[in-house]
Amino acid sequence: MTTDIASEAESKGIKYFLMSFTDLFGVTRSKLVPRTAINDIAAEGAGFAGFAAYLDMTPADSDMLVMPDLSRMIQLPWQKETAWVPCDPHLDGCIVQQAPRVVLQSVIGKVADAGMTMLTGVEPEFFVLSGEGDALADQRDVRGKPCYDQQALMRRYSLITGICDCMIELGWEPYQNDHEDANGQFEMNWGPSDPLTTADRHNFFKFMVKTLAEEQGFRATFMPKPMERLTGNGCHVHFSMWDGSGKVNLMSGDGELGLSSLAYHVVGGILRTARDMALITNPVVNSYKRINAPATTSGATWSPNTVTYGGNNRTHLIRIPADNRIEVRLADGAANPYLLQAAVIAAALDGIENSTDPGKRLDIDMYAEGHTVKDAPKLPLNMLDAIRLFEASEFVAERLGGEFKTAFAKLKMLEWNEYMSQFSDWERTNAFDV
Ligand SMILES: [Mg+2]
Repeated sequence: MTTDIASEAESKGIKYFLMSFTDLFGVTRSKLVPRTAINDIAAEGAGFAGFAAYLDMTPADSDMLVMPDLSRMIQLPWQKETAWVPCDPHLDGCIVQQAPRVVLQSVIGKVADAGMTMLTGVEPEFFVLSGEGDALADQRDVRGKPCYDQQALMRRYSLITGICDCMIELGWEPYQNDHEDANGQFEMNWGPSDPLTTADRHNFFKFMVKTLAEEQGFRATFMPKPMERLTGNGCHVHFSMWDGSGKVNLMSGDGELGLSSLAYHVVGGILRTARDMALITNPVVNSYKRINAPATTSGATWSPNTVTYGGNNRTHLIRIPADNRIEVRLADGAANPYLLQAAVIAAALDGIENSTDPGKRLDIDMYAEGHTVKDAPKLPLNMLDAIRLFEASEFVAERLGGEFKTAFAKLKMLEWNEYMSQFSDWERTNAFDV
């Protein structure tokens, strides 16, 4: 590998490098390194105090050194003198096993060991709000069913096309952009890739959307339910399993809806572990106001409330939109891009290795008729439920690693306790006169 990164960077006009890693809460942390220092920093790592991020470290730990994955560097299309570099943290000479990008790479290694490859894509939804983030940016966007609203989409033309132009330039192959089901909500889609590329892009996409929105005086958010009665921000995952050469789709077959038995084992694996992984796919207190929610002003939440699957039917946790892939609809915009991929892939592998039977497909509207399905497992009702399911999960420990499980459960319980220490107006209203 080249050691003269600085010369190469100079030829591309890069002056600064964002040495970046993402912690367990999905916060992206960086140091901005000038080109004049990049050769040394790339060789030795950029130093961070690990306790200052959410990685379950202590203030007494030695310097955490993050090592760059230069092959996946992205030169910012809107600020070409800066490059974003995903990095992996090391402590005392060892890679940090619970770091999300490390967890994902470990799971990807297991897919490779099983002689398979994957194609995955994500559909991150986001709101464009006022600069303060407390109101819709577009006061004319008030329709009860605002999905695909052309007029509202075109009022955000410069922001949406600005982001899309960046994706075209980066070679992500974006193919559509729309106004989503909530007022002020948008979705932008780009092509599928291997899971690490998709996770890096997902991470970078969130950074790009927030940055370009701020440049236009807005505030963009991927928060699961930023507006009380409106549809929340989902983050659906589409994926398919392929053979080692990447040429044969192992999910197409001659079973129901054109899927293979392997695909149904994948569905079975995800259904069996959905409750265990909810803390990853739906990681914040606010996440549980999106799932299990009453209908929104548009008429639907578009999020699952039970652990079921259907055909091309958006009211289930898993949708089968075509004969070559499945869609997992559980996750929301707060899901850590790396842990989201890791959890879904681990569940898929688990289903394949255990030949998990997904049971019978339900061809019903779960929002209207879900009550008729007596044995459908329920999703956790709040973050504490999710923490307890996660803590009790053998699947998480076996497939995602003990270090990650311990660290994530511990930090999430601290977060829950912090939340519970808050006093709300609701409590006062409902308990004052008891
Ligand atoms: Mg959508």
